[in-house]
Amino acid sequence: MANCEICHKPVVLIPSAQERAAKHGGAARDYIRLFDTHASCFIEKRKQDTLALIRRIVKQQQDRSVTIRTGLTHKEAYGY
Ligand SMILES: [Zn+2]
Repeated sequence: MANCEICHKPVVLIPSAQERAAKHGGAARDYIRLFDTHASCFIEKRKQDTLALIRRIVKQQQDRSVTIRTGLTHKEAYGY
């Protein structure tokens, strides 16, 4: 059983890796390796990563806007 790459709790496969290997071929460890992250953890992480990216882009645009209007950097204009 693999631990989730994100929350580090066990990833419990249903059907089990052994059952999947018996049904679809390959080795149980292949299925354990394939499912190394909870789907819910993956979606939540992607959501957080996307929000962080949007915040960075918005901040860059605000900084650029301040610089265009005033010739000052965001820090020079606002002091932070
Ligand atoms: Zn997880």
